[in-house]
Amino acid sequence: MKPSTPKDSGGQWRFPARIGDVLARLIRLHPIDNVAVTANPEGLAQGSVVEAGFAVRDFIPAAHKVALQDIPKGGGIIRYGQVIGYAEENIPQGAWVHTDLMALPVAPALDALPLATAVPPELPPMTGMTFEGFRNADGSVGTKNLLGITTTVQCVAPTVEFAVRRIKAELLPRYPNVDDVLAITHPYGCGVAINAPGADIPIRTIRNLSLNPNFGGAPMAVSLGCEKLQPARLFPTGVSLPVLGDDGYVIRLQDAEHHSFGDMIAAIMRAAERRLEQLNRRQRTTCPASDLVVGFQCGGSDAFSGVTANPSLGFAADLLVRAGATVMFSEVTEVRDAIHLLTARAANAQVAEELIREMAWYDEYLDRGSADRSANPTPGNKRGGLSNIVEKALGSIAKSGTTAIRAVVRPGDRVMNRGLVFAATPASDFICGTLQTAAGMNMHVFTTGEGTPYGLASVPVIKVSSQTSLAQRWPDLIDLDAGRIATGEASIEDVGRELFQLILDVASGRRRTWADHWGLHNATALFNPGPVT
Ligand code: CA
Repeated sequence: MKPSTPKDSGGQWRFPARIGDVLARLIRLHPIDNVAVTANPEGLAQGSVVEAGFAVRDFIPAAHKVALQDIPKGGGIIRYGQVIGYAEENIPQGAWVHTDLMALPVAPALDALPLATAVPPELPPMTGMTFEGFRNADGSVGTKNLLGITTTVQCVAPTVEFAVRRIKAELLPRYPNVDDVLAITHPYGCGVAINAPGADIPIRTIRNLSLNPNFGGAPMAVSLGCEKLQPARLFPTGVSLPVLGDDGYVIRLQDAEHHSFGDMIAAIMRAAERRLEQLNRRQRTTCPASDLVVGFQCGGSDAFSGVTANPSLGFAADLLVRAGATVMFSEVTEVRDAIHLLTARAANAQVAEELIREMAWYDEYLDRGSADRSANPTPGNKRGGLSNIVEKALGSIAKSGTTAIRAVVRPGDRVMNRGLVFAATPASDFICGTLQTAAGMNMHVFTTGEGTPYGLASVPVIKVSSQTSLAQRWPDLIDLDAGRIATGEASIEDVGRELFQLILDVASGRRRTWADHWGLHNATALFNPGPVT
């Protein structure tokens, strides 16, 4: 990470092409960029001379952009080698380039995208990488050993939560190999248009959540009885669920045999005890890293997310793919403006078409709600230096690394492929986390710039900060500091390798995330695009 100094013959500053080169407190990501971000945690005072040899004209807040050269009105503002906006007025060298000075480019048209035109060559495989996990009968591997109790409808949620409190107090201590007991609750199941287009999404999400590898690959469910989402619909024929037979793993609260609330709780506890006995017999065994299904997402992003944290995830993604694992990235609204880069990277034309199908579906979904992509970024993103969704998207897709996109997973579906996969989800942290859990993720990595205490009950969440200042302010919430990349203390490769090792350690139960240490577990949040009745 050597600072750059050379001038070219035209008197323009010329910077090396390597990602992450530091220009004395300014970081530029691509050689054709005409803006760079401030690396100083306190920002840059007006008049500060940057290493490129000019003085900044304004106070530049931390992580915000500086014009490296004069940008004429109407000219492209270029970051990541891509136009992120057009200058609304003449922007002189050294000026603060912020949202109000930038017009949003139109999103790439979906009917003229490159299809698998730049498929990356396969990286050399990496063998011998392992972790200690809980092998399931269906071949999947858990990183936790949990009893999950699925609910078909919100009506039963408080009853199941009551039962879970008693199971934890009275039964769990006798089953030391079981990590925890969770009620999988949600607001769905009744009062909804259950046959409407889009209803499949929440239904298959609940089904696949129940089948997450960390629940042993087999659900236990509690139903009310009269609800629209009947157990037979939730777990239709064809889903291999041996436990859903006559042996009582679906408890219906309205069944005549229950003469009281106490009877219902006793029935849930009896079924729970049978599951606990099975789960308690499981032991961690050595599994190849190819059994990892790692979900990546970001939340509370800032301008450094795409400079430090997300690129280090991208490096780790490449390592995971080389080790044969599945890596998911998601968040449709945050890749939409970079879709032309992703369709080109699709492994084949069919995968590219599936990417386009998911983008088109979401465009239409937003249109129906009279919303558009300018609804993202958030005020916090903007405070953090992200001017618009184009800039956010280019930083977001850095998480995906450099390998070919092998498959696209619809919202709520389970991923069946190895390698890099796009799981189509909204960007909402909780909904994305829920849908990635339904997709079968057994490890989650979450990058944050502004900071969030996010966590999931069912899957370990490693939180990576984009700036050292956040890691220092929240040392007991942030698991890995990628901000060291901005200060030059570490490279993207260094942090990417640390993350890869941390994933193996947490997956094996050798290390505990802060979210699990404190028990910070965000709610299951379903994506329900269908009507509520
Ligand atoms: Ca998110």
